[in-house]
Amino acid sequence: MIVEQIWTGNAYRNFNYLLVCDDTGEAMAVDPLDHEKCLMAARMNDWEITQILNTHEHFDHTGGNSAVIEATGAKLLAHSNAKGSISGMDRGLKAGDVIKVGRTVELEALDTPGHTMSHICLLSHTDMPALFCGDTLFNAGAGNCHNGGHPAELYDTFVNQLTQLPDDTLIYPGHDYLANNLGFTLDREPDNVKAGTLFEDVKDQDPNAAKVTTLALEKEINTFFRLQSPSVISALREAFPDLPDRPDPKTVFLKLRELRNNW
Ligand SMILES: [Zn+2]
Ligand SMILES: [Zn+2]
Repeated sequence: MIVEQIWTGNAYRNFNYLLVCDDTGEAMAVDPLDHEKCLMAARMNDWEITQILNTHEHFDHTGGNSAVIEATGAKLLAHSNAKGSISGMDRGLKAGDVIKVGRTVELEALDTPGHTMSHICLLSHTDMPALFCGDTLFNAGAGNCHNGGHPAELYDTFVNQLTQLPDDTLIYPGHDYLANNLGFTLDREPDNVKAGTLFEDVKDQDPNAAKVTTLALEKEINTFFRLQSPSVISALREAFPDLPDRPDPKTVFLKLRELRNNW
């Protein structure tokens, strides 16, 4: 599988993706907001976009659908519950559904509520595990729940699905927030050496050649995976003095999500 990460350069810092079968050149466009850049990348490489996947219904993920469909005739896939909020869907996805692209690419749909309640992450079944995680998981961060989401559902998604994936899974989120999110990690956990070193590496990075993390690295630098860290918990107690001695992971996650909203 070829993964083409496309930096949109917009104010929301979206990443779009083309997932390509290197045998047939057929491609799936993931959240192709910047339809011009997506279509251009396909044209330059002689790839044919046959499917579009929207991870969820927000406009910065669906806004390029009609232009790409008009240019390519691609079929539109999204969460089965998004039928009312995404127009022109051809296929509604449920947990465990498999999507084929060309001959060699197989992607599994994960039903990952939290950021919205109709959010799909795609997990590749091919040569390398890779997760296309929209606004559920960001590099060093977690999606917000302001526009149709629920923090408790996001916690369940993190604990029951994301942390269970193989450690070498490559993480491809819907936005470039890595440097900013590392600032939050370091605010919550100033002694996180790995996060400090990585911040120095990526703070001036070119988003056209963005750092790709793995799940193993996320578990070291992403506060939302570090719910048992003594320094995360003690810093959290400064903000929430009522926090119990040994807070359960769900409480820690929800408090972190709350702090992140105003950070
Ligand atoms: Zn969103
Ligand atoms: Zn978004």
